[in-house]
Amino acid sequence: MKPAPFEYVAPRSIDEAVTALARGGSEAKVLAGGQSLIPLLNFRLARPTLLVDLNRIPELAHITPRNGGVGIGAMTRQVTVERNADLGRSQPLLKDAIGWVGHAAIRSRGTIGGSLAHADPAAELPAVAVCLDARMRAVSPRGSREIASEAFFQGYLTTVLEPDEILVETWLPALQPNTGQAWLEFARRHGDFALVGVAASITLRRELVQDARIVLTGVGGKPVRVREAETLLVGGTVEDRVGAAADAARTAIEPEADIHASKEYRAHLAGVLTDRAVRLAYERAATVPGAALDTRRTLEAGQRRA
Ligand SMILES: Cc1cc2nc3c(=O)[nH]c(=O)nc-3n(C[C@H](O)[C@H](O)[C@H](O)COP(=O)(O)OP(=O)(O)OC[C@H]3O[C@@H](n4cnc5c(N)ncnc54)[C@H](O)[C@@H]3O)c2cc1C
Repeated sequence: MKPAPFEYVAPRSIDEAVTALARGGSEAKVLAGGQSLIPLLNFRLARPTLLVDLNRIPELAHITPRNGGVGIGAMTRQVTVERNADLGRSQPLLKDAIGWVGHAAIRSRGTIGGSLAHADPAAELPAVAVCLDARMRAVSPRGSREIASEAFFQGYLTTVLEPDEILVETWLPALQPNTGQAWLEFARRHGDFALVGVAASITLRRELVQDARIVLTGVGGKPVRVREAETLLVGGTVEDRVGAAADAARTAIEPEADIHASKEYRAHLAGVLTDRAVRLAYERAATVPGAALDTRRTLEAGQRRA
């Protein structure tokens, strides 16, 4: 099938885009990489009357270190992030996860902002954003506002963005000292959406967990932060607490069954992947330059035992 007819505009600046989108009202949509929107148009599951193409707005595609962290423009291609060596060092969770987004051809057109605004419940980047406590900036005729990532995602394919708002940038805070991060997921075939994915970030103080963030994808309508598991880890060693934390992740969620997996299988995957991701994040935290020597010794002793 081909899309229902629509009007098309390709503004050259954010201001022009905001004006055009406002003119289109609730029936207008922005076009980013088109990797999710174009199939929806072709199947006529979406029938916007106006498409506002963001591809000719250079100010939306950038990677800018700022306030200790980094701002990533909404139209930055996923492949640009994947290949950026500085981001690879400064944002290891993002680097871990981005290669799991579809296939190379998808990532060469797909954008960071498009993935976040589309809010697919099995996507990688929304879970990464919540795990990193990212902040989104959106603009509309009413001005600009910043939105915390946990508040940004509302449910299945739904964010807090109003129809006349454009996501312009996502800001990621700097990696804290003695922090390790990991993304793990399980999909039926390479390039498929994850059945379950997990983002883990572990900050150590000597060998004890000082801070933990664990966010799952594929187990609910939006990224699911498993606070029960985080709380269990904090104050103990990973070796002692990771089993209980993984159990907590498995039982705290209420995944849905679909043609790809039963809810029991998804819950099982959530537990297994949480266990592995927390251990991997811990290993990385313990081996970052400057990690406490006793932490490294604990890790090495554990590896000798294994
Ligand atoms: C075969 C295939 C496999 C895929 N596998 C995966 C996968 O494993 N993991 C994964 O995460 N994704 C996957 N995707 C989706 C891919 O990551 C898309 O790139 C992404 O979901 C949408 O990004 P986009 O730039 O293409 O946005 P578009 O398709 O252009 O837009 C998507 C939606 O977001 C809105 N939007 C886009 N940008 C903005 C903005 N700046 N402000 C406000 N609204 C905006 C659009 O109006 C539209 O509603 C896959 C896609 C395909 C076709």
